[in-house]
Amino acid sequence: MLINIQNIHIQSVKTLSNQDVHTDILRLDLIHPVISGNKWFKLKYYLDEALTTNANKLASFGGAYSNHIVALALAGKEAGIPTIGFIRGDGDTALSPTLKEAVSYGMELQFVNRTDYRDKQQIQDTYHQSGWYWIPEGGYGLLGAKGAADILNIQDTSNYTHIICAVGTGTMMAGLRMSANPSQEIIGISVLKNHFSITKEIEQIIMLSPKKNSDFQCLHGYDWGGYAKHPPELLSFMQQFWLAEKIPTDFVYTAKMLYAVHDLIQKEFFTSGSRLLLIHSGGLQGNRSLPPHILPF
Ligand SMILES: *Cc1c(COP(=O)(O)O)cnc(C)c1O
Repeated sequence: MLINIQNIHIQSVKTLSNQDVHTDILRLDLIHPVISGNKWFKLKYYLDEALTTNANKLASFGGAYSNHIVALALAGKEAGIPTIGFIRGDGDTALSPTLKEAVSYGMELQFVNRTDYRDKQQIQDTYHQSGWYWIPEGGYGLLGAKGAADILNIQDTSNYTHIICAVGTGTMMAGLRMSANPSQEIIGISVLKNHFSITKEIEQIIMLSPKKNSDFQCLHGYDWGGYAKHPPELLSFMQQFWLAEKIPTDFVYTAKMLYAVHDLIQKEFFTSGSRLLLIHSGGLQGNRSLPPHILPF
């Protein structure tokens, strides 16, 4: 099944709106049941470069539930370039559904133990073969941000005062800042605990682009204990959000962002008349690590 950009639309979020603040959400999760969301956008220009340089293999990194890895597997298949994923872990247990899916798209997997996984350059030096094109983990970098910048051009997003997204590597946020109007506020919710270096990491990407506006805000404290941590209260927020809005979320990224927005509205963080556009960045892979029937979608 191919990617369907036409499925992307803007939907209002009634439970996150009140008389002062109007909230809409951009549904990037609808482009594909598996390759949902921002990873597809972030890969676009890397793929173009791989094609123009006649790469014979696309190589990248990720965990067992990586949205990036499965998106790369399908993107490579569509572009006709074989893919290899360097996966964190020993590979001694059954493949996760995410990795099975990646393999079904033709990806070769190479497991790397947790210690060695930390040094990506070392992995590249060890495994590199002539003609291989390496994509940074999570698509981090200027080409990833350029792809993410296109997210705001699918629909008319010019009349929103704030654009809000979840932040992992910050590549998507860098892209949103690059393409938004200067008057639009860009707010990111960091999903990693105390990841204060993220501001620098985002600025570093923006400074490589022609538009050097690094006016954005990254909020901390909405990580629920750290990356991929998901206390019962967060899962219950996801269930309630599904019942009220019929929008699926994932506990790694979008649920944390939505909860943060809910909390910020309660705390009157946004001035009256604000029009928020939330980015539903898709990426439901993390949910596949939960036992069945915990989530209603
Ligand atoms: C990867 C991912 C993010 C984070 O994107 P970055 O560009 O790494 O900050 C946000 N949401 C979802 C659903 C993702 O899969």
